[in-house]
Amino acid sequence: MTLKLVFAVAVFSLFSEAQSICRDFYGAKRSSIEQGIVRESHFKNLKNSEYDVLIIGGGSAGLGSALDASTRGLKTILVEADDFASETSSKSTKLLHGGVRYLEQLWNKLLTQREWDQTLYNLITDALKERKTVIKNSPNLAQPLALLTPIYSWPEVPYYWAGLKIYDLFAGKKGKLPGSHFLSAQKIKQMYPQINTTGLKGGVVYYDGQFNDARLAISLAHTASSQGATLLNHTRVVGFEKENDKIVGAIVKDMLTGLTHTVRAKVVLNATGPFADKLRQLDDPSVPAMISGASGTHLVLDKQFSLPEAGMLIPKTSDGRVLFVLPWEGKTLIGTTDSKTDVVEKPKTTEDDINYLIKEVAQYLSQPISRADVKSYWTGIRPLVSDPNAADTAQLARDHVINRNEKTGLITLSGGKWTTYRVMGEHAIDQVMVQLGRDPKKETSKTENLKLQGTKEWQFENYKTLMEKYKLPEDVAIYLNRIYAGHATKLLDLYPNLHQRMAIDLPFIWAEVYYAVHFEAARSITDVLARRVRVATLDKMATNAILERVSQIMATELSWSEQIRVSNLERARIEFQLEK
Ligand SMILES: Cc1cc2nc3c(=O)[nH]c(=O)nc-3n(C[C@H](O)[C@H](O)[C@H](O)COP(=O)(O)OP(=O)(O)OC[C@H]3O[C@@H](n4cnc5c(N)ncnc54)[C@H](O)[C@@H]3O)c2cc1C
Repeated sequence: MTLKLVFAVAVFSLFSEAQSICRDFYGAKRSSIEQGIVRESHFKNLKNSEYDVLIIGGGSAGLGSALDASTRGLKTILVEADDFASETSSKSTKLLHGGVRYLEQLWNKLLTQREWDQTLYNLITDALKERKTVIKNSPNLAQPLALLTPIYSWPEVPYYWAGLKIYDLFAGKKGKLPGSHFLSAQKIKQMYPQINTTGLKGGVVYYDGQFNDARLAISLAHTASSQGATLLNHTRVVGFEKENDKIVGAIVKDMLTGLTHTVRAKVVLNATGPFADKLRQLDDPSVPAMISGASGTHLVLDKQFSLPEAGMLIPKTSDGRVLFVLPWEGKTLIGTTDSKTDVVEKPKTTEDDINYLIKEVAQYLSQPISRADVKSYWTGIRPLVSDPNAADTAQLARDHVINRNEKTGLITLSGGKWTTYRVMGEHAIDQVMVQLGRDPKKETSKTENLKLQGTKEWQFENYKTLMEKYKLPEDVAIYLNRIYAGHATKLLDLYPNLHQRMAIDLPFIWAEVYYAVHFEAARSITDVLARRVRVATLDKMATNAILERVSQIMATELSWSEQIRVSNLERARIEFQLEK
């Protein structure tokens, strides 16, 4: 009898052990699948929990706030109607900057009105400091970038040279990047044959930061999750819970199942960017709108259109706008337009915007550029905010705005920019702390020196180890090391049979699709191809070619019915503006 029992226990343990290390068809170790941002397990907590803070919106403002709140020890939940960074926060120019344009405004005001605008000065210097903080805390996803301003008239040479020297000075010790310097036309010709040098007098090179916006959002989500925050994408706030007019939570709809849940929270923070008025008015229909939208389109072209290792700032287009031509993720990024718009979800890119950008940029490039060179494009909406507490509400705030409804207690954070996501989160959570009856001066923000998950030991050179150990091509190893930092080996170990490229000439590999689903809460094809593996951001044709296979993988991994798979495919085609 005892022998039988020992035998049974031995068989059982062997079976369990075998199960825990067994590899599925694709080579994934099932035992590890439980870690990461696991959407479904977060849902389980909702019913019996009361949170300190519920954050609505999973863009840079919401995720920055969730990280700040969770690291201060607040019981935090964030809900996002679609996917993390699925609206404005994945559609930026991807620059970390103080705002050269604001510097020009500050200068002009001083010269023409003899007035020193301290608010504008603070805005520039704070953002310059933050650009360095972002680079320090997420070194894999953000780094300094040289930007050349080509100058075609002599009087403008000292103007831009002095202006960009002041930009360096404003950065101070905390925001310091390499300093700006003048380049002669001759030198530019030698270094950057991509530039049209007809009439060129010279140029000034200055530095800002550059980053991968959607991947930084995922990294913030990861880090906040590791600090105990609950994060639910595809979960929309459809109503508020109130007691005596005060908000005590929200009704949220799981957009994947259609089920609604009640989330109880002591404080609710509306961080829905361009959509902030919808939530403010859902809470209190009597409040006046404070957001207006400005849409911006970007184009992606092949690498040869940008300068090697440097961007170009075109300070004045024919209609007085600023444009950038940037090297980004092995391609060229051009943008942006800036036009007043109604706030809509997933704005479409128009042919007019595409043609406008091509026409403007063509004047600065030595080689012809046409519509056929455009590999991808997208449009995002910037939330421009007028402060409802300001005396002149028609004036748009240049900084972020935090607004509290005194009747209901809803706090709204909007405006600002990606560069300042961390301080935006800090300021918003300071306000949350006050509403919780706690002292933000005692329980201060912890994010200034907080390295994001997986980046503590990160170094660019680590790609060499990946190359050697996993026999990867150099571009793939560099890419995986940058995007996944300390998690790259986990991804490669989990899916040893899936290290092949998803598309020729792009560094993305098939293992990433599985990783996105199991560790990064990707639940739709667009989640995977626009914000985890950024194929759709770089190349629409390559995206079209792999769409079907990605849908098949996701259907298997997420047990989708054929109907869900087809509707997901349909949605991806519409969102990516793909021809059938
Ligand atoms: C064209 C363009 C270029 C830019 N370039 C730069 C740049 O180079 N550098 C820089 O620093 N900044 C840049 N910005 C600004 C920056 O991108 C934005 O300030 C920032 O991304 C806004 O983030 P957000 O979180 O406020 O809004 P969003 O990213 O739009 O996030 C709001 C989220 O709220 C969600 N939501 C809405 N309603 C609900 C609901 N009912 N329930 C739950 N969730 C909801 C939405 O789905 C959305 O994901 C640029 C902006 C644009 C438009």
